[in-house]
Amino acid sequence: MPIDLRSDTVTKPTPAMRRAMAEAEVGDDVYREDPTVNRLEARAAAVAGKEAALFVPSGCMGNTIGIKVHTSHGQEVICDARSHILNYELAMMSWFSGCIARPVPSPDGVLSWQAIRKEIRHVSPHWAPTGLIEIENSHNMGGGTVTPVEVVDEICDGAHDAGIPVHMDGARVFNAAERLGTPVSRIAAKVDTVMFCLSKGLGAPAGSMLCGTAKAMDEARLLRKRLGGGMRQAGILAAAGLIALEESPKGLAADHANAQLLARGLAAIDGIAIDPAKVHTNIVIFDVSGTGMDAAAFVAALQDRGVLSGATGPASVRFVTHCDVSTEQCRIALEACAEAVRAVAA
Ligand SMILES: *Cc1c(COP(=O)(O)O)cnc(C)c1O
Repeated sequence: MPIDLRSDTVTKPTPAMRRAMAEAEVGDDVYREDPTVNRLEARAAAVAGKEAALFVPSGCMGNTIGIKVHTSHGQEVICDARSHILNYELAMMSWFSGCIARPVPSPDGVLSWQAIRKEIRHVSPHWAPTGLIEIENSHNMGGGTVTPVEVVDEICDGAHDAGIPVHMDGARVFNAAERLGTPVSRIAAKVDTVMFCLSKGLGAPAGSMLCGTAKAMDEARLLRKRLGGGMRQAGILAAAGLIALEESPKGLAADHANAQLLARGLAAIDGIAIDPAKVHTNIVIFDVSGTGMDAAAFVAALQDRGVLSGATGPASVRFVTHCDVSTEQCRIALEACAEAVRAVAA
């Protein structure tokens, strides 16, 4: 079996999850009669500190609905230039919500109110008005970076003063919470909606949660149906989600320690550039341009040595740690990196 560092989406359900799935009490969730889904939604709302939550099949659908409930056609969504909603969701915000992105460059994906405020547009003969501000926390392509609570609060205060709502793409907000030592409910306290994935570092087989006001979630429920996300006996999946929510956050500290181990080990290899201080969570993005290989060649050389990774740019490679890779496997992966670099140098 290769050591799979491509993503935390590759995690498999635990034995406890599989048992809970087999025994889940279910009903028709489109009629809101699935007791396990209802429990998961209540629990997710509490964890996120919101009135209500909605179980959706994927993070992409959660973001899509989150954007749609806040915007109307012809508006702009302010987001970081490397954000997932802009670059990895098949233009869903234009396809479904009729909005375009107003990308804002930011250091390592961490936005600031100073950067955002200059981009806010009001109705005018030439401009599409700003309908929404989006924050990704932790930030995937920024290298798993975390936006501090004070910064999230400041963005929300400024946005709300301007009458603009805020959505948080918190696909990995539990990793942000672990890093900050702050509950998710505090991180998301001022955002209008937050989406998080059960299916990444939390290890559930599928599903994400969208959380917000009861009114927004009522509307979100209809949008989910419209998108084809009305699942019936979804309690089978929600049962795993409940365990992911209660148990899995405890394991994230170990994933972050493994990411640090990888970052420090990579920094010590000639030709690889990474600043371990910028590795906040479970994502490790490093530059291989000094090795004589481009990212594709580096990924292929690692694959030959039993380690799976992903290219995130012409010269950048990403490792993601998760509950299905051990510290020992991270050490082996580092050895594979060193060997691949030596093989090219020789
Ligand atoms: C993975 C991810 C998503 C979307 O999740 P899917 O379940 O794969 O649709 C959204 N935002 C970020 C930052 C992600 O990393």
